Amino acid sequence: MAGDRTGTALLVDLAAIVANYNLICAGLAAGAKCMAVVKADAYGLGAGPVAQALWRAGCRQFAVATIDEGMSLRAAFEDVPLEATPEIFVLHGLYPGTAEDFAAAWLTPMLNTPAQVGEWARFAESVGRPLGAGVHIDTGMTRLGLSPAEARDLAERPPRGVTVQVVMSHLACADEVGHAKNAEQLVAFRAVRGHFPAARASFANSAGTLLGPDYHFELVRPGIALYGGNPLVSGVNKFRQVAQLKAKIVQLHRVDTPRSVGYGAAHSITGPARIATVPVGYADGYLRSLSRRGIASINGVRVPVVGRVSMDLITLDVSRLAERDCAVGTEVELLGNTVTLDEVAASAGTIPYEILTRLGPRLRRSYIGEAA
Ligand SMILES: *Cc1c(COP(=O)(O)O)cnc(C)c1O
Repeated sequence: MAGDRTGTALLVDLAAIVANYNLICAGLAAGAKCMAVVKADAYGLGAGPVAQALWRAGCRQFAVATIDEGMSLRAAFEDVPLEATPEIFVLHGLYPGTAEDFAAAWLTPMLNTPAQVGEWARFAESVGRPLGAGVHIDTGMTRLGLSPAEARDLAERPPRGVTVQVVMSHLACADEVGHAKNAEQLVAFRAVRGHFPAARASFANSAGTLLGPDYHFELVRPGIALYGGNPLVSGVNKFRQVAQLKAKIVQLHRVDTPRSVGYGAAHSITGPARIATVPVGYADGYLRSLSRRGIASINGVRVPVVGRVSMDLITLDVSRLAERDCAVGTEVELLGNTVTLDEVAASAGTIPYEILTRLGPRLRRSYIGEAA
């Protein structure tokens, strides 16, 4: 089995990622394409293998958060011929003093402030060739981006040497389909993108993409949908599960006298029970908030996490399984097709994004699926 010597494995289904990508692409307005968001190491799943699989599926635009992520991602494409190498956009824009690194790795900054625009323009002038850029415009998120007025100034007095290739904005409430802010931001974005007629426009994250063709423009920017999370706060998740966290039972306790389980003696057993110990804990991103609330699956049978999640271990009440179906070495699914990402997130009181991005460095990632 893939994984480490304890049998713990984080399986990443690249075929499922590609299927999710194809599903998104199939629903896009004519002419729109998908810029895959692979920031934070592809939401913890491994930016290199994930981006390469998407590239093989036809994806030619990627977005990362930081320049360091961008440089690592570019290195993952070093064997690709120049004419087929993807565009890599850096959402956080141009950190002061990094222009040279951007250019050397063929990264495109999403410029967020007039100061960043100025620095990129000065750098273009110093190297004596035009440089491409994206421009992020704030239409209501108040996080990153030029104000609409700053964007208009930029369009009216374009700095020499900077070619605006993409104009983007980000939705604040796209996961709530009926939220009034979606339409408000759309109106604001349409107005401001009109100042940059030659640029491709990009507005929608995964949830925004599901709001319909008005939100697609030339490039959509899905992240969580590629990785199998439900982009919407409610409704059916039509995306395939990607991450599977599996581990093997390391010890079993047959209990017949009343006793407690784990730290804080937080769980009490009153009658006969069997408790299975599994070597995954909050150091692996199995969040402590899953204490008493998490569910695991053993051959499709759902069993509860009892007691507190510790750093490296959890305990399951496996009393409902026959002894022969649950022994030391039996495989347990903590995240996957039975206990889905959305369910784990809901049990932990968080969102799928946080579950994925917290999956820890101790977990060995193994890539499965056709594209692997
Ligand atoms: C993270 C991010 C995305 C992707 O969002 P999902 O909700 O995961 O689809 C898109 N655009 C920007 C600017 C982001 O920061």
